[in-house]
Amino acid sequence: TENNELMLEFQKSGVYKIPNSQTFFVDPVRILNRNYTQFRVCSSSYYSRFFTSSFTIDEQNEKIEEKFRVSASSGKRKRTQRRKQCYSLNEKELLADQRHQEIRPLLVKAHEEFLEAKKLLNVICELNCEIEGWECCAELNGGIKEEEVSFIELGKVWQAPLYDIALDFTQANKHVRKNGGSPCTQHDDQELLPLFNNLVSNDTSYDMVSEFQTIRYILPKDSCFYMSELEQIHNLVPADSECGFNFIMIDPPWENRSAYQKSKYPTLPNKHFLSLPIKQLIHTSGALVALWVTNREKLRKFVENELFPAWGVRYAATLYWLKVKANGTLICDLDLFHHRPYECLLIGYIDRHVTDYELPSIVKSLKDQVVMTIPGDYSRKPPVGDLLLEYVPGPRPARCIELFAREMMAGWTSWGNEPLHFQDMRYFSRK
Ligand code: SAM
Repeated sequence: TENNELMLEFQKSGVYKIPNSQTFFVDPVRILNRNYTQFRVCSSSYYSRFFTSSFTIDEQNEKIEEKFRVSASSGKRKRTQRRKQCYSLNEKELLADQRHQEIRPLLVKAHEEFLEAKKLLNVICELNCEIEGWECCAELNGGIKEEEVSFIELGKVWQAPLYDIALDFTQANKHVRKNGGSPCTQHDDQELLPLFNNLVSNDTSYDMVSEFQTIRYILPKDSCFYMSELEQIHNLVPADSECGFNFIMIDPPWENRSAYQKSKYPTLPNKHFLSLPIKQLIHTSGALVALWVTNREKLRKFVENELFPAWGVRYAATLYWLKVKANGTLICDLDLFHHRPYECLLIGYIDRHVTDYELPSIVKSLKDQVVMTIPGDYSRKPPVGDLLLEYVPGPRPARCIELFAREMMAGWTSWGNEPLHFQDMRYFSRK
């Protein structure tokens, strides 16, 4: 029965916690769908990398691994790779390997626990059958358009300040009328707002449809976005720290050798992140800061020695995101040196009220969390914010902001140069 309860909880929340352990399996699609009232995220568009109709899962994975081999073996890298195979690891690689060896037993144990949850594994395989096919989402947007809008490019053109987004309040107004709401809560049916360098909010309790250049975007209830380049982020600094954020999630565009990544979004040299106004963004009662990092040793050292100290963040724990295929196996060998099947989320505090005395107990319960998911496409990070909410200091509901966001969440402010990216109607279908 315990197992049934866990499964029911998973069906409802998208989170399966292995009993007596810090291991979770998470279905990002179910978690994201908790944000919406009339729409739902199409699992086929989220999981397009691991479930496709034209390939079997194994064929698909072979393709991915093949792509990886090709990119790893091009030009200069080919030579370095060969050299690395012949010679021993350099100093940084040795340190990275040491880190890996230290957490390896934890990851192996988590994966074993997951493989023992047989009912869960059956449901994961069935995620495949739930897939609705691309047409259903695309239909709503008048068929799949070849190109998505590139907000990154549009934000740079001289006309950028002239672009408006149209918010459609019809749905919200319908609810106001149905519930006999007072006229002051009623909006005109459409509102035009500047798209860039402007805080655009859906402060209703319903999904809001918005439109820009004939493409529709869904804004979840109680969410807002600010779309700008890094130079304008200071516009989000609150005048009063009582209105600051107590949960800050950051997934920076770290410089990366992968050409695939480069084609998806621009990256920034590390020194730019030192000047992010983290201290100014936080709430009077402090904040929990969660930062996605890559497995490169140089980056880890930069975060530990420069970035966290510059932001005033005290490191508390690391959450490991372990990536599995639909059949439960890891997406690649755990010990592949340049391509690990896991990524790390470093968690720290900017303390106002979390004292030295309190921190160890928080660290203890946060420690060694492993979150498993089937990865989404486009190096999308899983929505793990909810798992961390209980560790956030200060007011409830938590005041949450995601920096360098590509999507929106209920109760969150999303900032970046393309926070509407995954809000495109093509990723949704109607409930
Ligand atoms: N967490 C996101 C997800 O799961 O989909 C991925 C974020 S991605 C690592 C980094 C984001 O930062 C990209 O959307 C990129 O376009 C954006 N970015 C890069 N340079 C930027 C800049 N100068 N100002 C604002 N955003 C920038």
